[in-house]
Amino acid sequence: MSALILDGTKIAQDIRTEVAAEVKAMAAAGVRPGLAVVLVGHNPASEIYVRGKVKACEEVNVYSEKLTPPESATTGELLELVEDLNRRDDIDGILVQLPLPTQVDSKKVLLAVDSAKDVDGFHPMNVGFLSTQRPGLVPCTPAGVMEILKRSNIPIAGQDAVVVGRSDIVGKPAAMLLTNANATVTICHSKTRDLPGVCRRADILVAAIGRAGMITKDFVKLGATVIDVGMNTVTDPAKFHKFFGGNAKREETFRKKGSMLIGDVHPEVAEVAGALTPVPGGVGPLTIAMLMFNTVKAAKMRRGSGVPELLRV
Ligand code: NAP
Repeated sequence: MSALILDGTKIAQDIRTEVAAEVKAMAAAGVRPGLAVVLVGHNPASEIYVRGKVKACEEVNVYSEKLTPPESATTGELLELVEDLNRRDDIDGILVQLPLPTQVDSKKVLLAVDSAKDVDGFHPMNVGFLSTQRPGLVPCTPAGVMEILKRSNIPIAGQDAVVVGRSDIVGKPAAMLLTNANATVTICHSKTRDLPGVCRRADILVAAIGRAGMITKDFVKLGATVIDVGMNTVTDPAKFHKFFGGNAKREETFRKKGSMLIGDVHPEVAEVAGALTPVPGGVGPLTIAMLMFNTVKAAKMRRGSGVPELLRV
């Protein structure tokens, strides 16, 4: 058996097209959703992520503004900046790119973001809305996982779902979304006993661990749907060959770039899974698409105009 590969790039593009249509309809009513991205200092990875987010805004015609306080910024200065963005009516979404410099109290800064503009969905208010099934802003990556499942017609209600990873940004909200969609959910972590055995019970297995190729065939029930959230940059040739030795296309990319993005799921899982998200091209592209979605959702919710059915997560 060879798993059906779930094309995250295509699903993300569909969502962006829907968001762009929504933005166009809002423009007719005189509203343009706006996203502010706060990028402190010069973290190269953060700069790449922020560039991707600004580009996505341009594509769907969402207004974007990049604010770039210096590396030396203090907690007080960032709180002032966030408060200013909270007050502005042309800004619907505020995204503070993490990590912040060590002198900054990150939790304090994130807590200061108006929960109605918290497009990352990290604010405790939005966490509470999610757990009590009230309308709110849902973290982008787990929301993207749900979109992949739904748009690929994978049954969720009544299914056994196992989420490996319990972080606030991926594992816990993914488990909550699956629970709200009527799956029977188990959350696993580094202290879980017999992890392969627990994972083998899953009809839907979500891996959000941060360990390249950790989920092997032994963890997967025949025919299960496996969602690989992991994004691990591998530079060690021996490690690369362990996963993709003999794959000419990947070998060529690795030779050129000197690194390869590898998920938490071992490629051999394709032999037993019913459906599988690839890395790259699976969950990754959904994260920015859902950020665009959240910005439009925030703009509509702030104006009390509701969220259209098509765009409801
Ligand atoms: P994280 O905060 O480091 O959490 C990792 C989780 O995995 C923790 O709950 C940890 O358990 C668990 N874990 C670690 N080793 C384990 C093991 N040997 N057995 C069982 N559980 C283990 O990571 P994260 O922020 O959730 O991210 C997870 C992965 O998703 C990373 O690869 C990250 O790069 C990727 N990611 C991708 C996207 C995307 O857009 N595709 C977005 C966000 C994150 P404990 O709680 O017990 O420590």
